Amino acid sequence: MRFSRLRLTGFKSFVDPTDLLIQDGLTGVVGPNGCGKSNLLEALRWVMGENRPTAMRGGGMEDVIFAGAASRPARNFAEVALSLDNSERLAPAGFNETDALEITRRITRDVGSAYRVNGKEVRARDVQMLFADAATGSHSPALVRQGQISELINAKPKSRRRVLEDAAGIGGLYQRRHEAELKLKNTEANLTRVDDVVEGLA
Ligand code: ATP
Repeated sequence: MRFSRLRLTGFKSFVDPTDLLIQDGLTGVVGPNGCGKSNLLEALRWVMGENRPTAMRGGGMEDVIFAGAASRPARNFAEVALSLDNSERLAPAGFNETDALEITRRITRDVGSAYRVNGKEVRARDVQMLFADAATGSHSPALVRQGQISELINAKPKSRRRVLEDAAGIGGLYQRRHEAELKLKNTEANLTRVDDVVEGLA
């Protein structure tokens, strides 16, 4: 699936709605220091479900909302929309009915985040799995933060293995295994309870 457009509204320094068209081939973003290049990459990671404020260079998730400037008041919400070209129908099951997908995340002060796919409200997990199954996502090794190369060089083998697994597109399987294990534990607990009830009746 190819990213085709990123739209930011009230996200960090992008107070006014801003569209970034991502066309075929290589896209370069150039500009003076502090103009918002890293904010664009963070917006991409954020809409894919990043939940660590530190990964957004903030103390809390609401720090991504435009905080105001000398001539402009702070905003009450931030929104990022990412459009994906799905004409080859590579999206995971459940999201594969249309040629294009628009994933939107909005955060409102004191309310929190909400996600939508093509206008329909979904859970954060659905968006995270959509990208994990497509071998990308907020932790994708394709998104290289400042300082990440030296972090990788100094990383422990287990963390490096995680990078390779994400690149191979099996990151989503870990989440699914974890959820299956939780279900299994619940079922075992229920069975024990049933045994107790049966014993009580005997
Ligand atoms: P460099 O080339 O130095 O790495 P950059 O182009 O990557 O810079 P960013 O780090 O993306 O720039 O942008 C930093 C700018 O974003 C700063 O001017 C900062 O004040 C602004 N900024 C960050 N968060 C917010 C916010 N919540 N509200 C308003 N402005 C913000």
